Amino acid sequence: MQSKISRRAIVKGGLIAGAFIPAIGLLANASVAAALPPLDPKDPTAQALGFIADASKVDAKANATFKPNQKCGTCAQFLGKAGDAVGGCNIFAGKSVPAGGWCKVWAQKPGA
Ligand code: SF4
Repeated sequence: MQSKISRRAIVKGGLIAGAFIPAIGLLANASVAAALPPLDPKDPTAQALGFIADASKVDAKANATFKPNQKCGTCAQFLGKAGDAVGGCNIFAGKSVPAGGWCKVWAQKPGA
């Protein structure tokens, strides 16, 4: 018995499969970020960098460089997308930080 698979069917199948791969990647990235445990403000590195989960509560006197518009969500180290409530952080690998958080390493994300 000989199976006949046309070239057209192979190309069509490849196109359909190719269309789903980016969607699967996006879902995987979202689930990975959501699965990261939140950064504990009592973590020694977090304390050393003055991390706080709510940037509106930053002690401006103790952090002279802090400006009210500085938040994790606009930081170059934030790995979440614009509008994400939480995301990973290059400084605190394996942990998530809230978009409204802040630490002394904050640097303006280009375009944010
Ligand atoms: S480095 Fe940026 S994103 Fe990470 S905790 Fe500090 S302010 Fe937030």
